[in-house]
Amino acid sequence: MGETETALVKFGGSVITDKRKSLTFLSGNVLSLSSEIFSFMRGGRERRVVIVHGGGSFGHIKAKSYSIAGGLKRTGQLRGYAEVRSDMRNLNGRIVSSLLDSGVSAIAVQAESIVSFSGRRVIAEDFSMVDRALEHGLVPVTFGDAVFDNSLYFTIISGDVLMESLCRHLKPDVAVFCTDVDGVYDRNPSKNRNARLLDRLDRSTVVETTASSRPDVTGEMEGKLSVLFNIAENSGRALVINGRISGRLYAALSGKNPRGTRVLPD
Ligand code: ADP
Repeated sequence: MGETETALVKFGGSVITDKRKSLTFLSGNVLSLSSEIFSFMRGGRERRVVIVHGGGSFGHIKAKSYSIAGGLKRTGQLRGYAEVRSDMRNLNGRIVSSLLDSGVSAIAVQAESIVSFSGRRVIAEDFSMVDRALEHGLVPVTFGDAVFDNSLYFTIISGDVLMESLCRHLKPDVAVFCTDVDGVYDRNPSKNRNARLLDRLDRSTVVETTASSRPDVTGEMEGKLSVLFNIAENSGRALVINGRISGRLYAALSGKNPRGTRVLPD
């Protein structure tokens, strides 16, 4: 590890919003995560942080009802595409404000300025905005979004896929996924009272990921699992923790092992 320490952090949609109720921002959770980012950055002059956030109930509900992820099929969807983009910018504005209020010099970076799409696949990446922000200690904050797609006209990019691209580029010392459960369980803990938290996870671990009853167009834990292993390959440490419980993000960032799941490389 060099002199600079880089952290890549995902604020899951399940932490920053109530995923069941449209446009419900959980300001207390966001403020608490923001102040933990601030405490981490204050601990060392060369600490770089990049944040990705999900959409939660600012993204998934309308993205689902207008079927945005599958691309343009009827003109009625265009209104939905425009609304999801507007709602996501509203959510991002609140998160950036919360970070600023906590002393973190956060700046919004659009997903589209980092990745380009065709057929729901990333076809090009450009990290110049992120790198430019990091040069002088700004904290780029990007987010899952409704985006243009070269062949489908539009689609949805998840925060988890952005994490994967950023991780390959940044090779962070630590990558942390903050979600609303304590980590990855052997079964969906929202549906199985006996689900067991996995403190370590590798490709051979058997994980069941039945969907919850709330809308999510990017696959919940199932979608995350496919990116987690690539992230573990490209980061010093990769963890999934509960972002609703204060103190765990700070502990994860500062090299401790809070309750959660450590994802191991191959
Ligand atoms: P976020 O919005 O924070 O990215 P998601 O809602 O996409 O998080 O994913 C977290 C949810 O995944 C949990 O609330 C849980 O209901 C669901 N889930 C399904 N299977 C599992 C599992 N095996 N372990 C942990 N969570 C799971």
